Amino acid sequence: MRNRFSGYCYYCTQFVAKGAGHFEKRQDAKGFRVIHAECVFKQREDKQKANGVTA
Ligand SMILES: [Zn+2]
Repeated sequence: MRNRFSGYCYYCTQFVAKGAGHFEKRQDAKGFRVIHAECVFKQREDKQKANGVTA
C-alpha cells in the first residue's frame, strides 16, 4: 500500500516523500512506519540471505 504520509524509511533511514514508498502498520504500536518501494525488495533479499535462501 502506498504511503499516504511522508516519513523516514525504516530500512535506509532516508526521507520518503508522500506516495513514494509504502507504509506498514507496526505490530507493537498504533503508529506506522514507512519504507521506500525499492527498499522493500532490498529488505526481502536480506531476509532471504539471513534465512539461507538463495534468491
Ligand atoms: Zn529506504
